[in-house]
Amino acid sequence: MLIDANQLDDGAVIEKDLCILGAGAAGIALALEFSGHGFSVALLEGGGFERDAESQALYEGVCEPPLIDPYLPASRLRYFGGTTNHWLGYCRPFDDIDFEQREWVPHSGWPITRATLEPFYRRAAAVCKVAPDFAGIEPLIAEPANRIWTFPFHIAPLRFGYAYRGVLVDATDIEVFLHANALRLALRPNGDSVDHVEVAASGDRRFQVRAKAFVLALGGIENARMLLVSDDVQSQGVGNQHDQVGRYFMDHPIFPVAQICTSHTSGPFTDLSVRNTDTWARSFRLADGEQERSRILNGCLSFNLIPQVEDVRQQLLTKKSWDTVEAYLAAEEQAGREVTVIGREGEDPALFFSRFDVRAEHAPNPDSRVTLDHEVDRFGLRRVRLDWRMQAIDFESVRRAVEVLAEDAGRFGWGRVRLAPDIDLERSYSPGFHHMGATRMQEDPKHGVVDRNCMVHGVKNLGIAGSSVFCTSGYANPTFSLVALAVRLADHLQKRLGGLA
Ligand SMILES: Cc1cc2nc3c(=O)[nH]c(=O)nc-3n(C[C@H](O)[C@H](O)[C@H](O)COP(=O)(O)OP(=O)(O)OC[C@H]3O[C@@H](n4cnc5c(N)ncnc54)[C@H](O)[C@@H]3O)c2cc1C
Repeated sequence: MLIDANQLDDGAVIEKDLCILGAGAAGIALALEFSGHGFSVALLEGGGFERDAESQALYEGVCEPPLIDPYLPASRLRYFGGTTNHWLGYCRPFDDIDFEQREWVPHSGWPITRATLEPFYRRAAAVCKVAPDFAGIEPLIAEPANRIWTFPFHIAPLRFGYAYRGVLVDATDIEVFLHANALRLALRPNGDSVDHVEVAASGDRRFQVRAKAFVLALGGIENARMLLVSDDVQSQGVGNQHDQVGRYFMDHPIFPVAQICTSHTSGPFTDLSVRNTDTWARSFRLADGEQERSRILNGCLSFNLIPQVEDVRQQLLTKKSWDTVEAYLAAEEQAGREVTVIGREGEDPALFFSRFDVRAEHAPNPDSRVTLDHEVDRFGLRRVRLDWRMQAIDFESVRRAVEVLAEDAGRFGWGRVRLAPDIDLERSYSPGFHHMGATRMQEDPKHGVVDRNCMVHGVKNLGIAGSSVFCTSGYANPTFSLVALAVRLADHLQKRLGGLA
């Protein structure tokens, strides 16, 4: 059933078994899992079915460093379907190594493994509407000394809000509330559970939702904000007894590191890039052993063809002539852009790529942090202040990954890779718009906010769905994993709901 919160009476009280806050990828996945299981569910969405400026403005805040401003309002959408209303749809599970405690990566290690998530990845594939057969990682060539591995992404930019609106509104056990802005969680006086959530419609009307269990699915940053603004019973905020809420914020910084890459008309680079399609793309990363040897993070290296270069590449493939390259270079020079072609002398016509990007793992860092600003939004809630911090290992990992790729490309004759000259890595990255880590999963409440089941430590009926629970960021885009975790949380809550008063 669909309810516009603007039509509710001021002071109304709604009672449900489960209350889900937020209808993005995580909230919708969780609600779908509850449909038909005999529980009553409220799905609260602050926006409507379409984007509106008033709701979107609630996402404004302060972000440091300003290099990535206006990161907060630009990297998320505040209406039904959430940020999947404009995501790119790249899906891939995290690797085994992403879950492991790596002695050379401080604060790494999850309380669960990739194997724990495996069955839920299969169910997440159905929700995200991608094929469940994710090919594994394999060496780029069958050569023991090869340090580069390759793997595919599925690309399926499903608009969750459009895809699942009908089925959720038609479900007899789910009530979808639009324009229902969650303001704060009201804890019971002893602080061990949530009593109700206070909600505002678009205007002055206020109402409450009481439930046996609550799940925050407000997005990677707002999950932390909601815990922090709910400070009337616990002055540090809910689940923040050990000052962990908001810490370890991570994104996937993207570094346009290689200026150009050349290769002959066949070879692993060429074959793989030629086989990329609209629904499938291959990338590279360093082998696990090489990450350990070099003491660096995980990260994904991928070709990013710009359209003109794609034209040139196609012509090279068919005509095998340098003329098109000459024409391309002349046009670039005229436009004031520097392009270098490497390894041309005496070689056959080559394929070349204008850019080779690294989407890097962002090391967990307790000082990279979501806190509250002194400015308030139109509901009087303190806005977000995001302090995104990078460390030496983040930059060194990118430099070393490209170095290894370049060495092996030359050694095995795949082509040439060149680190962009004069690149200042500390100033040349852009955000991936993937918000992870601010309510991380750890068994010990002193080091994290949720337990292995995504339930908030010390608050027995409050769960969190979303990439804010990630302990490390890997390189894989987060939505597929966060949907898998939401599906897993649904199973956990369904087992526990009977026991929660
Ligand atoms: C340009 C871009 C491209 C991307 N491409 C990819 C990609 O290719 N692959 C990938 O995996 N990820 C991608 N992402 C990230 C992806 O969009 C997010 O990982 C995903 O949407 C997160 O899902 P979520 O449900 O946690 O949060 P969201 O989708 O942001 O949903 C949160 C929901 O909560 C609602 N809400 C917020 N506050 C309140 C409140 N107080 N009360 C009630 N409701 C509230 C919001 O309106 C929203 O509907 C991309 C992101 C961007 C910006």
